[in-house]
Amino acid sequence: MTLSDAELDQLIIDLRLGQPRRGGSKRKPIDHGTYRGARQHRYRGEPVCELCLPEEAAYTAERQRARRATARGDAG
Ligand SMILES: [Zn+2]
Repeated sequence: MTLSDAELDQLIIDLRLGQPRRGGSKRKPIDHGTYRGARQHRYRGEPVCELCLPEEAAYTAERQRARRATARGDAG
């Protein structure tokens, strides 16, 4: 099978268009509704959305509670 230069060029273009780019600069989608998602918002310097905000607050509250519990010094 032989292809002309023009056909070969077209074939290459078709193949490129058909393939999703790999290893590109596309960022991962945000895990909305999770503490992880809230971290992703903050890492990007954008406001935390209403789905992620309560999860972040819950995580923070949980950590503070855990800290208070261990602060008593009877953990071990
Ligand atoms: Zn979000």
